[in-house]
Amino acid sequence: MKHSILTVGLASGLMLAAACAYRTDDTPWTFTIGIKFDQPGLSVMGEDGVPYGFDVDTATYIAKYLGVEAERISWREAPSNRREELLERGEVDFVVASYSITADRQKAVSFAGPYLLAGQDLLVRRDEAGIDRPEALDGRTICTGEGSTSADKIKRDFATDVLVTVEETYSICVDELRAGEIDAVSTDDVILAGFAAQHPDELRVVGRPFTRERYGVGVKKGDIGLQRRITHAIQAMIADGAWDRAVATNIEPSGYRPLPAPMVFNPPDARTTTNNPTSPDPALVAVVEQLAATANARQWQSFGALVCPEAQQAVDALLMQYTPQYDGRIGPEVEEAGFTNTITGITQTGPDSATFLAHESFTDVPAKYRQYFKDIDYTGTMARRGGTWKLCSLAADFVEP
Ligand code: GLU
Repeated sequence: MKHSILTVGLASGLMLAAACAYRTDDTPWTFTIGIKFDQPGLSVMGEDGVPYGFDVDTATYIAKYLGVEAERISWREAPSNRREELLERGEVDFVVASYSITADRQKAVSFAGPYLLAGQDLLVRRDEAGIDRPEALDGRTICTGEGSTSADKIKRDFATDVLVTVEETYSICVDELRAGEIDAVSTDDVILAGFAAQHPDELRVVGRPFTRERYGVGVKKGDIGLQRRITHAIQAMIADGAWDRAVATNIEPSGYRPLPAPMVFNPPDARTTTNNPTSPDPALVAVVEQLAATANARQWQSFGALVCPEAQQAVDALLMQYTPQYDGRIGPEVEEAGFTNTITGITQTGPDSATFLAHESFTDVPAKYRQYFKDIDYTGTMARRGGTWKLCSLAADFVEP
């Protein structure tokens, strides 16, 4: 772990001290947390200085799990284009701000999570007849957030004939849309749904997401300890029902139904390796290979027979979340996409336990949706039950070039 507080030496000492959780005999723990101030449903700063929304509830749950009560949190505005900088400079302890986990950002920050799944979509005026998908944007003007994945996506895949304006916050884009200065706002559907709900007579979300965003909690790059503790907090929030309650209170009133709670993992920079005390049992190897073969052949019944009963639901959820062609909302363009699973290693960790590593790659994905279908590395945990090997858990992460 880096002790960068001593080495940063640029920002004022005061700012750094404010950002770091500390405890002395007479000082309680405190956190400075970066959030958005203007994203209805996710995170809004109230007039009384108390923020509310799903990201705020998530941040508050995490803080409490780590020993910091809500009243000890100091909230800091973290617009999309300032999140990395706030973390790098130590001005916040962590960021919970509709912050997508991406390979590019992982060069500068570490992520815990994910804690929510969303997809990029379009917000238009209610009477807009011409925009029903991103392909229809030619010759139109859209607005998105500076420093966001939404802006990257638009520039990369749709910029040819779309005029793009970029603002520091989405609420500025929404004002421009309502004033008739632009034709659409593009960012994550969950954010757009919050704005649409504020102006239901004027605005609507198109409802055809064209990316998958996995919201993570950003921490200072390399702070694996905090990353791990926050991941545990998110897992606890999902397990004890607080996640569902936070979705019901903050997100669902807009009419938006998020995907089920994500399968939370620690991204690869926090993974540990296992030893290989025993060479793998041939029966284990056969079952692992059968898992890949039945998945590749879409023989889900045979696949299911190789899964521990208590893990069935979690494994199904994970497959749904990482195999986007099963997400009906993205439309027929991706139905033909194929996938291939390859087993890259098997480690028997005991007489009745083992893990395997695998890789899933996608084929026949339309260029525009390539971002949606990232290759996946995953780890499976195997257990021998009554003489038979079964898949008892899966953990996965996208691999980005
Ligand atoms: N989730 C996307 C991102 O992290 C868009 C939303 C935002 O800008 O916060 O860039």
